[in-house]
Amino acid sequence: MNPDLKILTIQGILAVGPSENYSYNGSKKDSNLSNVLSSVLNKIRVKDIKSLPIVINDTGTIYDAAVLMFTEDVGTLFIVNDGGALQGVVSRKDLLKAALSGINTQETPLNMAMTRMPNIITVSGDETVFMAAKKIVDYEVDVLPVVRNFYTKSGEERLKVVGKITKTSLAKLIVDLGEGKRQRGFER
Ligand code: ADP
Repeated sequence: MNPDLKILTIQGILAVGPSENYSYNGSKKDSNLSNVLSSVLNKIRVKDIKSLPIVINDTGTIYDAAVLMFTEDVGTLFIVNDGGALQGVVSRKDLLKAALSGINTQETPLNMAMTRMPNIITVSGDETVFMAAKKIVDYEVDVLPVVRNFYTKSGEERLKVVGKITKTSLAKLIVDLGEGKRQRGFER
């Protein structure tokens, strides 16, 4: 076999027939690539790539939240109550909007500016990275809290924040995959 054609055959670009006749295999190769990507994204779990969430108590003010955003260098905070249950989410723009409205940010409770439960889009550690990415795109948010259920002493079901998935988490995963660094998820 011509060595150049052999390389193209190995790469899957050309298909070789029984009497060494060659045919272009481009679209088939694209669909194979798509299958591989889809299988990777559906194998890697949220718990494999989640990062640390930054939370703030619901007794805090809008000013407290802005300071925490700067010191922790994050764009979104999760608001929890004394029992550790997720109450809301506050983004950079939520705080900016509140500040621009002219209210006293040092006296106004944070819960005036946050998006609150039950309107929070969440993800569980066992969901796939694909599902997380789809929720981020579909709901047009930057971050999803990774949650698990727990029961309060009085038996009410609540959500505990155990991590976060951000657009950066997804970008890092792409870089890791591109550099061949990430093996976990492929083997399962
Ligand atoms: P920004 O407002 O800084 O552009 P986002 O796009 O993440 O950041 O947030 C847009 C709006 O959606 C904000 O009002 C924010 O409170 C809300 N939000 C952010 N994350 C979530 C989430 N996971 N579920 C529901 N609402 C969210």
